[in-house]
Amino acid sequence: MAKQQDNFKQVIAHAKEYGYIFSSSEIYDGLSAVYDYGQNGAELKKNIKEYWWKSMVQLHDNIVGLDAAILMHPTTWKASGHVDAFNDPLIDNKDSKKRYRADVLVEDYAEKINQKAQKEIAKARKRFGDKFDEEEFVNTNPRVIRYKKEEKEILERLAKSLTNEDLADVKALIEELGIACPESGSKNWTDVKQFNLMFGTKLGASADSATDLYLRPETAQGIFVNFANVQKTGRMKIPFGIAQIGKAFRNEIVARQFIFRQREFEQMEMQFFVRPGEELTWFEKWKETRQKWHESLGLGKENYRFHDHEKMAHYANAATDIEFNFPFGFKELEGIHSRTDFDLKAHEKHSGKKLQFFDPEMNKNYVPYVIETSIGLDRMFLAVFSSSLQEEELEGGTTRTVLKLPAILAPYKAAILPLVKKDGLPEIAQELLDDLKWDFNVTYDEKDAVGRRYRRQDAAGTPFCITIDHDTKEDKQVTVRNRDTMEQKRIPMAEVKAMLAKEVDFRTWMDK
Ligand code: ATP
Repeated sequence: MAKQQDNFKQVIAHAKEYGYIFSSSEIYDGLSAVYDYGQNGAELKKNIKEYWWKSMVQLHDNIVGLDAAILMHPTTWKASGHVDAFNDPLIDNKDSKKRYRADVLVEDYAEKINQKAQKEIAKARKRFGDKFDEEEFVNTNPRVIRYKKEEKEILERLAKSLTNEDLADVKALIEELGIACPESGSKNWTDVKQFNLMFGTKLGASADSATDLYLRPETAQGIFVNFANVQKTGRMKIPFGIAQIGKAFRNEIVARQFIFRQREFEQMEMQFFVRPGEELTWFEKWKETRQKWHESLGLGKENYRFHDHEKMAHYANAATDIEFNFPFGFKELEGIHSRTDFDLKAHEKHSGKKLQFFDPEMNKNYVPYVIETSIGLDRMFLAVFSSSLQEEELEGGTTRTVLKLPAILAPYKAAILPLVKKDGLPEIAQELLDDLKWDFNVTYDEKDAVGRRYRRQDAAGTPFCITIDHDTKEDKQVTVRNRDTMEQKRIPMAEVKAMLAKEVDFRTWMDK
């Protein structure tokens, strides 16, 4: 746990030092759970968005994009259920005055029990080596069976009391489990209360006539209210999807996990409209498609797991989270939900407008069912960044810090380095840079010894360094150094562009 916290601190410090993420309005001591993306962070974020957009919109003939406004008619949030039900159960510790999400306290407790089971499994794996049959072990080892049972019972009870809005039972559960305030160790809790997460604001100048509005807490509703507009003007046929990337706002109760849980964040969402009755088949298809998307980035299969929901949101008939192994453990990165016809029907009811599709094959109108894939852009950023940051032992007992970002997402694809700041080498380097910058984001660095510059680019996440030396003047060749392998090879300067193109081309990357 202490090591985890150290790693996490290192991630946060590195993100700041290399211009990825700053606290918002830092000169005024920051704003809680709000962050700014720096010069490198803005590039990485843009590249993640593009990778998602190309995979979801450009590569799917039946998915189109949308860019809806953040402010929406207030009835939207009545219809969607957010006014009445977008709450988190909160609990205060009377001694430390710290506020927590009651469900998260219980979930963290259950996760600790799961970790005990995982420890037993890991020990057995080590003991039995190749002969280890995990499934058999999990089903027969009395300790693991007990831990798993305990974890399941806790989560089921939590799900039941939340579904029944039985907040007294959530408190009772916290007390029965003896959960203490992580800060103070005190078990002196208040009752559990519901807290609405939407940020309110006003439209209009005078206090009397102003209308109450909300900053959207999710981008999805912008898609639903535009269902008929897009379907008609785009002549879309079921099944089809509408994708959107945009800001969302939530007044989170507890937000102390860096960009994982912010009050202002971005979502990349896609709502896929299908025939009623076919939704669960599409749900499975989208689970698989999204899993492949994640795996295509090469962050390590072992860093992902699916978590099927015990407690379903009021609108869903199937739901799963794709969880990622963040520096603080496995947590939700993306949600995939079968939202039924809940949203479109609710908007039909509140607006009085028809949100239906005439299916020529079935010769009838219906309200489509919806599969949603919803991923937090900032959480994806954290997943990519934290899993890429590594401390490597080198020969000779030295270490290097390297940010092994997938090349396709890296802010700069290459750094151009003249070996020395004289003898015409900077001019050649500048010429190469001026040529490459039309196709790639590239950077230039001439300060310090070349070895130090390599280290700097390693830590900043630049996948290639291209060095111009005295021989370049004669043989027109440059040295290309690979960030991950540290291998160096000489190639003709004229081939640099093609080399980089191959490394970061979307199609080649996806084919791999
Ligand atoms: P959590 O349980 O962690 O609060 P959620 O289930 O409320 O998340 P959804 O409403 O399903 O999240 O939102 C879809 C995605 O948006 C999440 O998978 C997550 O990646 C992202 N997201 C949600 N809340 C935040 C936040 N406060 N900060 C950053 N990203 C968020």
